[in-house]
Amino acid sequence: MKKRLLICLFILLIIPGCYKKDKFNKNINTIIEENKNILIGINYPITNISKLDKVIEKDIETEYNDFKEEYENFKSLSTKSELNIDYTFDLVNENYINIAINIFIDSSKLEQPKNKIKTYVFDIKNNKLLNLRDIIDEKNLKKLVNSSTNKLINNYKECIQLDKLNEKMIPNYDNFNLFTFDNNSIELYFNTGEISFEYCDTLNINIDFSNLDLLIKLEEESSKTINYIDTYPVNKVIDPNKKIVALTFDDGPSKYTDEIIETLHKNDAVGTFFVIGNKVKIYDNTLRKSVKYGNEIGNHSYNHKWLTKLSINELKQQIDKTQDIIYNVTGYKSVLLRPTYGGINSSIRNNTDLQIVMWSVDTMDWKYRNVNTIVKRATANVKDGDIILMHDIKDRTSKALKQIIPILKEKGFEFVTISELNEVKLLRQRNNNEQSK
Ligand code: ZN
Repeated sequence: MKKRLLICLFILLIIPGCYKKDKFNKNINTIIEENKNILIGINYPITNISKLDKVIEKDIETEYNDFKEEYENFKSLSTKSELNIDYTFDLVNENYINIAINIFIDSSKLEQPKNKIKTYVFDIKNNKLLNLRDIIDEKNLKKLVNSSTNKLINNYKECIQLDKLNEKMIPNYDNFNLFTFDNNSIELYFNTGEISFEYCDTLNINIDFSNLDLLIKLEEESSKTINYIDTYPVNKVIDPNKKIVALTFDDGPSKYTDEIIETLHKNDAVGTFFVIGNKVKIYDNTLRKSVKYGNEIGNHSYNHKWLTKLSINELKQQIDKTQDIIYNVTGYKSVLLRPTYGGINSSIRNNTDLQIVMWSVDTMDWKYRNVNTIVKRATANVKDGDIILMHDIKDRTSKALKQIIPILKEKGFEFVTISELNEVKLLRQRNNNEQSK
């Protein structure tokens, strides 16, 4: 693992462009490892703040070593033991960084899969990790504990062990090590077993700041850079007789998104971006520019969890948190949902009003590294009304797009967003009905 880190650091040093420009969290360290007994997939952020990175790296290394020690020599007849680590990252007002690391272990050695969460709240100005003690005083801790107790019981009736909850819910800072916050609220996390039964996932609740006095200064949520837009701006008049196609981009925003929206803009084209909620704040300017250029923003969950595997509560959280953050950043309410991995079930259908958007052409740009292959897959068999799936997280996709747009234009296609595609389809239906009358 040390070696991998060194290689990664070396890459960072020889690409000063990406190192300098991207201040925080534009770099992710990935570890993928597989052998006959184990499967490891780890993603964790590199913030370029050495104090914070060191702590996270050390924790990841511990998890990695513990897992290997426990499972590397464990032979299972059914499936390999699996360690999965991912994270969420939030920047609060450029002063505070919140990171939550999610650790998932599955093995036939265990009765049920294990979930664990670790959180890091970092004060950038003072270069230090924060405890809850740094955020609220004891009087406010009492208030926080009271609100939390009620909320936990309400939200997790079937999971809470009341005796454990009573022990935990005393105003002692040490009982609340796991938390993150944003401008409006604090999120408390509890690992499995702390207050819940072993068969339950980690628990988390959100407590509004409005009744609490804080020791830290949070800027008022300002609207100075945001023009709130009530509805999605459809300024374009689209000829319903022309062939149309919708370009869609999943899993961003990323450092490639800006170039992609510039390419679209230069070519008088638009697309629809299905964003991951926890990435939105880092690229808030990109997202606002994207909307300004006439692109549409859709919801692709908060941290790319497999939506069909979630409880209704978790599913709603994944969708709602992303809706809120898109609205806060762009002033625009998204009306579209693209389920992660294209997985869809009745639970998703029954628990959202958002339009579920799949695709009809898959470029597989996450898999194919060759730009020409991506171009070919995006252009070879496109029909009127098609929805093309791409990902704005790869340089090759950005490069391919520069060829894809002229080719499709040449074939007579007009580029539309998903909402525009819906409108054109409606218009055509109306025209057809009138003609057949
Ligand atoms: Zn995705």
